[in-house]
Amino acid sequence: MNSSHTDLVLSETDLPAWYQSLNREFFNGELPPCSIKWSRRLTRTAGNIRVEVRLITLSVPLLFDVWKGDTVFEVCGVRCTSPEQALAEILKHEMIHLWLFERKLPCGHTREFRRKAREIGQPKTRHGIALPAPKSGWVYECASCQAKMFRRRRLGRRVACAKCCHQLGGGDYDERFRLRGRRLKNEEEVGQATR
Ligand SMILES: [Zn+2]
Ligand SMILES: [Zn+2]
Repeated sequence: MNSSHTDLVLSETDLPAWYQSLNREFFNGELPPCSIKWSRRLTRTAGNIRVEVRLITLSVPLLFDVWKGDTVFEVCGVRCTSPEQALAEILKHEMIHLWLFERKLPCGHTREFRRKAREIGQPKTRHGIALPAPKSGWVYECASCQAKMFRRRRLGRRVACAKCCHQLGGGDYDERFRLRGRRLKNEEEVGQATR
């Protein structure tokens, strides 16, 4: 990992330079400029891209909020120990979609996609943000919005999804949005990139 990748701040102004550096390093500088924005509402996927309008969206909850202390995640099959690393891997993944699109090729997770991914150091195409094994802890999921929350220990009390209680339940604890807890499985997915 290039050291210039490590001083990321959660700012959209740094993203174009970041994108260009990955473009040069892994795509021969062939990719056209692409807009990149952060989204707090993107919770099911770590990132996505709309190739027709060249727009990459990145998830604040999955690329930032999940990182606590010594967190280690696997992203695109790459072991990541910082949000900067995770961000770079997600960007690379989204950029492969654009790279295929620019070549007038089908731009899903095709054989061509996987070949390019391996070439730029990503062993896995299925690239959610996964907690690598062994990792103990608990995951709590909201049945309404599917938001996930991780805790090292089991919560001793009932907790409801703050977002849903606030948006749909008037702000008070609402049983409908109670978080269901279970022990983490290995390789727990906390976010998939759809494209
Ligand atoms: Zn919720
Ligand atoms: Zn994808």
